Amino acid sequence: MDFTVETMKGIWERIFGHYKGEIADVERDYPGKKSIFVTYDTISSEEPGLGEFLLLQPNNALYAGEKALKEITGFDAHARITNLPKAVSGIDIRDLRSEHLGKFIAAEGLVRKATEVRPRLKEAAYQCVRCGAIIKVIQEDMVAKEPLECYKDQGGCGKTVASTRFKLLTVPSESKECSVFVDTQKLEIQESPEGLRGGAQPQRLVAYAEDDITGKLSPGDRVILNGILRSRQKKERGIKSTMFDIFLDVNSIEIEEHEFEEISITPKEEEEIIKLSQDPNIYQKIVSSIAPAIHGMMTEKKALALQLFGGVSKVMPDSTRVRGDIHILMVGDPGTAKSQLLRYISQISPRGIYASGKSASAAGLTAAAVRDEFGEGRWTLEAGALVLADKGIAAIDEMDKMSPQDRSAMHEAMEQQCISVAKAGITATLHSRCALLGAANPKFGRFDDYKPIAEQIDMPPALLSRFDLIFSISDKPETKKDTDMAEHILKLHYAGEIDKYREKKENGKYSAEDEERAMKIVEPEIPPGPLRKYIAYSKRNIFPVMTKEAETAIKDYYLSLRRGGEAENSPVPITPRQLEAFVRLSEASARMRLSDKIMKEDADRAIGIMDYSMRRAYFDYETGRLDVDVIATGMTHSQRERSISIVDIIRELSSRSPDRAAEHNEIIDMAKDKGIDRTKAESTIEKLKREGRIFERRDGKYSLV
Ligand code: ADP
Ligand code: MG
Repeated sequence: MDFTVETMKGIWERIFGHYKGEIADVERDYPGKKSIFVTYDTISSEEPGLGEFLLLQPNNALYAGEKALKEITGFDAHARITNLPKAVSGIDIRDLRSEHLGKFIAAEGLVRKATEVRPRLKEAAYQCVRCGAIIKVIQEDMVAKEPLECYKDQGGCGKTVASTRFKLLTVPSESKECSVFVDTQKLEIQESPEGLRGGAQPQRLVAYAEDDITGKLSPGDRVILNGILRSRQKKERGIKSTMFDIFLDVNSIEIEEHEFEEISITPKEEEEIIKLSQDPNIYQKIVSSIAPAIHGMMTEKKALALQLFGGVSKVMPDSTRVRGDIHILMVGDPGTAKSQLLRYISQISPRGIYASGKSASAAGLTAAAVRDEFGEGRWTLEAGALVLADKGIAAIDEMDKMSPQDRSAMHEAMEQQCISVAKAGITATLHSRCALLGAANPKFGRFDDYKPIAEQIDMPPALLSRFDLIFSISDKPETKKDTDMAEHILKLHYAGEIDKYREKKENGKYSAEDEERAMKIVEPEIPPGPLRKYIAYSKRNIFPVMTKEAETAIKDYYLSLRRGGEAENSPVPITPRQLEAFVRLSEASARMRLSDKIMKEDADRAIGIMDYSMRRAYFDYETGRLDVDVIATGMTHSQRERSISIVDIIRELSSRSPDRAAEHNEIIDMAKDKGIDRTKAESTIEKLKREGRIFERRDGKYSLV
């Protein structure tokens, strides 16, 4: 079939016959409604050839479609095509090549950047100051194009720019003529992590949206952008280059609405998932499938398994939202496989993102409004890892090294699970409904077992207390453990060596069976692909409810700890914040076996893991008791008591002395009378000095601030 504009217009008219309601909306509401959204199937079922023609020569096909629309409605409405066939929607951003230029394609990914919506000059109306004629110039480039002369064919006087000037009309003149503007927005999408193999860096694609489809997307959204791939000549300091940049001229936007649409599960796979969930050892199987190359760390791995499934996020009757995501922090000595665990989790988690706290991008870990080259004069809202990992897991390595801006945005991100940006023209709230898995190194390089954790991590207490679980991993030489670990790591490398050997040397001395036997040690019971599907299925379908037995177990444990804090002067061992963590962990545990009932075994599991984490993270080694203040305020109960005593002593001594200050030795002596030994008193003085509550005068005496 020959697709001339006329024949195509005829077909389009038949296609628009299927969209009578929308056409009527345009006729009634234009410019409130400007677009007809046509599914690709409608086109190809009306005329298969036109569908194919549209993919190959979209400019011509769409031109005919919009011409037909103009004739039907009388308005400049848009034909926007959605639901493109697999042949074009299956192309990864990284595989876009010159052969795709000018073709209709569908690009799928995560919105990383979006600029403000601003008008662009589309058709400029210039008035000649000599004769008053109005000259129209179509604008295509970034730089505004002016008329070279007062064109006679547009009714002008023919004077050149040398002898007249032109005025740009941005509001209608007497003759109602005016420049035409169109809203534009520049976007950048990046491949979603699911499509990436082996931790490759995601590729990005720039896109331009115009008119009524601008302002529809926020950074972090998962979208399919349908449009024409175009190229633009690069310029190096104003000089045109032979290199071209590609960008997508967006025709339509599809926003993903359902959970984990990117992970498809066939009915057969669903059957297998359900069968697997009934395995009595399912919990064990999942845990042992997490980073099998990493030796030991069983409690940590159990916690990570629970994190992958997550608790249930709920909306309370007063419309406050409670997160279901489980936040975990791992602080540990260098070389304890923290980074490796984080990478593994980010790869098996649906929507997992791995990022470092030291990230160089402007958005950092959260989000930022920036004005840079990308925006071409506009402000750009850029999403960081926590926004890109919405509904997944953000694995943030070297979290202690994050920027001050990230530090302050992180509270909101962890608790309210959104990030607000208000800067210049941009005010936005972006979702960050993700579980955070953080890793940090101890401030002084290596852990001191007998100091509170909060003192050893370079993170504010308010942030630390947002974590449901904190694990400290220390690397102390210990013969039994070291032997196992050494054997494990050597076996691992042995397996890798055999694999490489067999790859390079056929018919060598190692057989396939040798390799298989060696590889056993790293083989997960459930391979990563199926595990990810299992998790996605569970998060999408399973919403467990607490049974009475589970509730009692949690309540009893909580109350037994609380009771320990009832006596006067004892630290608070646990708070409702941890109670919520128990609930989330038990929910996740039920989800692991696809159960909609939270049983006692789930509660016990949550208690076991919390207990393990708290006994290290919340422990005051001085008194041998649990103390939430270690994390919540960064100071143990006994430390605070001491601070108060020392401040009291200095106050008393200063009030007695004529120069209103306290001498070092006097403080120490008085502290001793109150039962505080010398080293503790001295470290408390140092601490108060650091906190700026007391100061050391030039004569070496101390005063209160
Ligand atoms: P971290 O981030 O904690 O400093 P890494 O993840 O970079 O540590 O790990 C350092 C190296 O030590 C990695 O190659 C890792 O495989 C190895 N390693 C450390 N602990 C273990 C373990 N428990 N099992 C296997 N390998 C380990
Ligand atoms: Mg590391």
